Formats: sequence, C-alpha cells, structure tokens
Amino acid sequence: MIDVHAHLEQMDFDNDRYQVIEGCKQKLKAVITCCAHPEDFDLTMQMVEKHKGFVFATVGIHPIYIKEITEKEKDEFLDLIKENKDKITALGEQGLDYFEIKESEWQQKQKELFIEFIDLSKELNFPLVVHSRDAFEDAIRILEQEDAKQVLMHMFGAHHLLKRVIENNWFISLNTIILRSKKHKKIARDMPSEKILTETDSPWLDPAGGRNTPLNVKIVIEKISEIKKVTFEEMDKITTNNAIKFFNLKI
Ligand SMILES: [Zn+2]
Repeated sequence: MIDVHAHLEQMDFDNDRYQVIEGCKQKLKAVITCCAHPEDFDLTMQMVEKHKGFVFATVGIHPIYIKEITEKEKDEFLDLIKENKDKITALGEQGLDYFEIKESEWQQKQKELFIEFIDLSKELNFPLVVHSRDAFEDAIRILEQEDAKQVLMHMFGAHHLLKRVIENNWFISLNTIILRSKKHKKIARDMPSEKILTETDSPWLDPAGGRNTPLNVKIVIEKISEIKKVTFEEMDKITTNNAIKFFNLKI
C-alpha cells in the first residue's frame, strides 16, 4: 500500500509526527507528502531526509494560496525547487480552485501559476499532481494546451470528463471520498485499474471525522476492490505498482 497524497507537515501531526511515520512503515511501502506552501518546504525536506526511501515529497503552491504569495516569493520558491530537485519526487499540488477563489482576476493568476508549474515539470521531468476543485474543465484544457504528459488528477470529481483524462493517459488518485460520494464511486468504477493510485489527503478526510492518517489508504483500496470486484490483494498490488511506476519511487 502506498499513500500518494498526505500532508504530514500539517500541525495536526506536530505532537506525534515521528510515531505516525514509524507506524506507517509497519504497514505501507511509502508515503508521498505534499508540500503545498513555501513555508512548509523545510519541514517537508527534513521528513524526506530522515525517512529516506519511505517518505517522498511533491512540492507546489496550492491554488488557494494564490493571494498571499508575492511574485518574488514565487520566483524564489521555484529556484529552491530546482536547487533541491534531487530530494523531490513530483510537483504539485498545483492547479485551480474556483471553490475557494471566486474572483476572475485571481483565477487568472492561478492559471498563470499553473502553467509555470507545468513548464517546470517538463523541464525537470517530474510528474505533476493536479488540484482542480470546481475547475475541472479549465484544468484539463490547460493541461492539454500545454501538452502535459505525466499528470495525476487528485480529488478528481468530474465523471463527465473522465474520458478525456483516460485518453490523455493521465492518472487519478482516489481517497476516502469514495466511501460517501456516488460521483467518485463512478469514477473508481470507470477508470482503468492501471491508472488508479491511492491517497488519503491526511490529516483531512478521515472517514470517522477525526484526524486522518496514511494508514487509512487501506480503506480506500478495500472500497476500490469492492467496486471493481477483485480481491483486496489484487487491487493492492496493482495500485502499489502504479504508484511506484508513476512517481519512479526508489524503494
Ligand atoms: Zn492535498
């Protein structure tokens, strides 16, 4: 089992981060932690160093932070990413969020930043983790326009656009939302297993309403195997291999 999208730098883990990661090592093959703000970069890199071969990092600027990052901070962050590229596995979560950001001028800024990260992902040959809340159509259009190839759609909820994701040879990561969302269940049903990765988005999205941890990726795999009518072991093997291949994980 691999959790390809958690936020282990969040303060929810400040008191027991080490124990949580050690606990994950007993059950999982790897966790990819997502640094979504420049101020989380140092802690993310510390985790990667300390848990080499187990904790991997994807790095980006979450589109909901578009208003608070200055041009200068953004440029410095892009330089930091390039300087540290050997410790980074992927870029993102990058993309668009029209749920949180409603003003068109800020949505425009999100698009520009998204394109910058798509370019950087090509330059560094990194996969790109895409966030596209309430902006699925625009996100797909931009990715197509920019000819992005190594794409993982995180929290993708637009079943009517799934065909385009499949045709573009992109991947999708599913999380515990499939327990309660019909839309996401349908996506799990219709996405080829070879293109599915599993995640938790910890500390958020705990099915019991508390703090989520990467260990709950097991519940996600259980649910997908139920939907796909295959055994847990089979689905675990497929999604774990997908993650290793997609992110080129050295484990
Ligand atoms: Zn996230």
